[in-house]
Amino acid sequence: MLRNMTLAQVADVVNGELLQPEFADVLISSVSTDTRSLIDGALYIPLSGDNFNGHHFIAQAENEGAIAALTSEDVATSLPLIRVDNTLLALGRIAGWQRDQFSGLVIAVTGSAGKTSVKQLTASILTQTFNTWMTQGNLNNHIGAPLTLLALKPEHEAAMIELGASGLGEIAYTAQFVKPLVGIITNAVPAHIEGFGSLQGIVETKGELLDFIQPNGTAVLNADDANLAQWQQRAAHLQQLAFGFSELADVRATNIRCSLEGSEFDVLCDGQTVAIKLPLLGEHNVRNALAVIAATHAAGLSWDHIVKGLQASVTVKGRLQPCRGAAGQLILNDAYNANPTAFKAAIDVLKGTENSWVVMGDMGELGSDEIAAHTDVGTYAKTSGIEHFVATGPLSRNAATAFGESAHWFEDKPALIRFLQQHTQKQDVLLIKGSRYTGMDQVVAALQNGN
Ligand code: ATP
Ligand code: MG
Repeated sequence: MLRNMTLAQVADVVNGELLQPEFADVLISSVSTDTRSLIDGALYIPLSGDNFNGHHFIAQAENEGAIAALTSEDVATSLPLIRVDNTLLALGRIAGWQRDQFSGLVIAVTGSAGKTSVKQLTASILTQTFNTWMTQGNLNNHIGAPLTLLALKPEHEAAMIELGASGLGEIAYTAQFVKPLVGIITNAVPAHIEGFGSLQGIVETKGELLDFIQPNGTAVLNADDANLAQWQQRAAHLQQLAFGFSELADVRATNIRCSLEGSEFDVLCDGQTVAIKLPLLGEHNVRNALAVIAATHAAGLSWDHIVKGLQASVTVKGRLQPCRGAAGQLILNDAYNANPTAFKAAIDVLKGTENSWVVMGDMGELGSDEIAAHTDVGTYAKTSGIEHFVATGPLSRNAATAFGESAHWFEDKPALIRFLQQHTQKQDVLLIKGSRYTGMDQVVAALQNGN
């Protein structure tokens, strides 16, 4: 936590009541929602979900060294308590207060795809200059984002925050606490559409970030996204930078060369041309890099730091991560997750490659579009010149059918793995991808281990 707070301060910030006013001056030095990781002197915030109620762990929190707790229920404890209506909102408000104490640079990213990649690339640049804190893993929701802010420490000089949403209003909720100087929207595509009702719902939700960028701040928007104009309008009160491949972009890539080793391109910005080397695969990562260049340029970082930071960036686990199979096959492990747009972006990486394989698992959360979306990926793979197509999962059967007769579909992963072990060798290049729940990472692991 950035600054210690007295219980009186906490009560004020969360709009709650300190039930034992004699403890008004007691100081908290951290906040915890989980007794298993709680440290001495923490304020314990019990959260409740469908299957748990954090209030049941207040005694345990006390044992672990909590100095006080929030509560929205009647509980018996000797810990000082602050009564609130909603402990989750209280968590957010404390996080927002802590963020207000932070004078360093804050950049936030939202969008349908590419958030974690953009986060990682931005952090790679920021760390060239600043002691940088960033969202850990994928903790980007209404709990993770506040916890990310609460983990800021006095020595930090910059923060890179990922904001994700599964429904309308969720970016507004987290962004109100984050208040970035620079806010990036990567794109809006029909991913996880179920919580939003429609693509328009997704566009609006991503746009919520723009309402919470600092008044002197910058909105970084995707010039190649069909929804650019909507976001530009919503960000009319801010400085704006559009990134992309089109002429509309303020930060534009030209001379793009993507290979299985990475990408090189020139970026045009402010009348300058700067050569960029990116060790990440795929054109979509060139787009992600452009967003990051725009954001860090807007935040005042030098070209030298931007170029070096991008060159030093590393692939995030499970996102087009190259590795070798036991037989020497080149595997592009993209098993972290999948949606139709991301799937096509990944297939693009294999375009023009000989001995190319797409190994597909199902894509989830697509609602009534699910069959058409899988068919589309199969067709896209075929027209992209992919040589071999193998799939498992009930939905991916549609993709295999669309690819054509040479495709193979398997009832389960063990059968798929056996087939790949028998039929792939050193010269083959395999893209392995599916939604997280399909566990396509097990296919990667099996090929790596050779058993
Ligand atoms: P999540 O919603 O799971 O947090 P995310 O938005 O953080 O996802 P990443 O983890 O960066 O996204 O990337 C996930 C996948 O999306 C990548 O493996 C890649 O296939 C695809 N992807 C990444 N960036 C883009 C982009 N700019 N456009 C299209 N697809 C992309
Ligand atoms: Mg993510």
